[in-house]
Amino acid sequence: MLKKRLFTPGPTSVPEDVLLEMAQPIIHHRTDEFIKIAEEVFKDLKYVFQTENDVFILASSGTGAMEASIVNLFSPGDKIIVIVGGKFGERWFELGKTYGLNVIPLNIAWGKFFNTEEVEKVLKENPDTKGVLCTLCETSTGTHFDIESIGKIVSKLPQTVVIVDTISSLGAIPCYTDKWNLDVVVTGSQKAFMLPPGLAFISVSQKAWSFIEKSKLPKYYFDLKRYKKVLEKNDFPFTMAVSLVIGLKKSLNMLKQITLEKIWQEHHVRAEATRNAFKKLGLKLFSESPSDAVTAILLPEGVDGEKLCKLIRTKYGISIAGGQDKAKGKIIRISHLGWQDEFDVLTAISSVCIGLETMGYKLPVEEGIKEAISILFKQDN
Ligand SMILES: *Cc1c(COP(=O)(O)O)cnc(C)c1O
Repeated sequence: MLKKRLFTPGPTSVPEDVLLEMAQPIIHHRTDEFIKIAEEVFKDLKYVFQTENDVFILASSGTGAMEASIVNLFSPGDKIIVIVGGKFGERWFELGKTYGLNVIPLNIAWGKFFNTEEVEKVLKENPDTKGVLCTLCETSTGTHFDIESIGKIVSKLPQTVVIVDTISSLGAIPCYTDKWNLDVVVTGSQKAFMLPPGLAFISVSQKAWSFIEKSKLPKYYFDLKRYKKVLEKNDFPFTMAVSLVIGLKKSLNMLKQITLEKIWQEHHVRAEATRNAFKKLGLKLFSESPSDAVTAILLPEGVDGEKLCKLIRTKYGISIAGGQDKAKGKIIRISHLGWQDEFDVLTAISSVCIGLETMGYKLPVEEGIKEAISILFKQDN
C-alpha cells in the first residue's frame, strides 16, 4: 500500500487533528451545540478574510461561490470586465455569459505579467461597467495578480464593484479584503483552509449589498439574502455540511494560532525553495509573475507532463498536478497550500526528479535539492 501525499492545488492534505474532529458523530444543524460552533467559525472567517463585513458559508465547492457572486449582484445585460489569464479567469467569463451578462474579457497570454493600467483604460472606455471580476492566484498557470491595485481603481467608481476569486490563495498569501476595497471575495475549503472539498466562503461589502438589492437575476439556493436573514442567529437557510463546519472550526483555530503573517511567510519560503530548486535543476518557471500558492514548471521539450504525473502518482502515491487545456502535458504544478512543512517540499521536488530520471532525463539533482534545503532551513542555520 502506498502512502498518499497531495501536492495538488486542491484538494490539499488535511491535518490529523482536523480529520479527528470530523470523525465525531453527526449532530443536528439546528441545535445550540452547532449554532455555537457556527458563531465561532463566522468570527474566525472574518480574521482570515481580513474583513469586518459578513462572510457567508455555502455548502458547495468554490465555483458555487463564484456563481453566487454573479447571480446575487447583477441583472441580465449588465456589463462586466473579466480578467482572463487562464482556466479560472475563463470560468468567470463563462459564468457571466451563462447568466446573460455583457462580458468584456481582458485576455492575457497564460503565465504572462498583467499590468493593471489596462483595467483602468477599459473602465474609462466603459463607464457603465458594473463589475470587475479577477483572480488573486490563477491556479492553472501559477500566476499572481495585483488585486490591491485593481481594488484601488474600482473603489473610486461608485457604480462598479470588484469581485475576486481567491479560491487557491486566501489563507496562503496576503489578501486584505477591507484594506484593498474588495467588494466580494470568494474562496473554498479544499486549498489553503486545510479541509476536504465541500465548503465555499463569500464576503460581501456594503457597496456589494447595494448591488444585491437591485439584482434581477434568478437565484434560490445561492440567494445571499436568505443567508443574511439568519446570519444574526448564526444559522443557515439550508442543511449545513455539519462535519465540514466542525472541521473548519478546528482548522481556523490552527490558522489563528499560527497567525496569518506567519502562514504567508511559510508559503513564501516553500514557494521560493521550489522555484529556486527547479531553476538549479535547469527548468524554467511557467509564470512571469509566480504566486506563492502554487508553482508551475515548464517541462523540457519532449517530456509528457501527464505521463510524469501519472508515474509519480501510481508508483509513489505522490500527487502533483499537470497542466490544464492548452498547458496540458507541457507543465507540472506543485502546490504550497495548507498543511505542509519543509520536508513536504523536498518530497515534492525529489519526486519530480525521480520521475524525470525514470523517463530518461538526467538532472543535476544534488544541486536542486541542496538549493531547496538551504532556503527551507535558512533560519535554523
Ligand atoms: C480550485 C479553483 C477553483 C475551482 O474551485 P472548485 O472548488 O473546484 O469549484 C476556482 N478558482 C480557482 C482560482 C481555483 O484555484
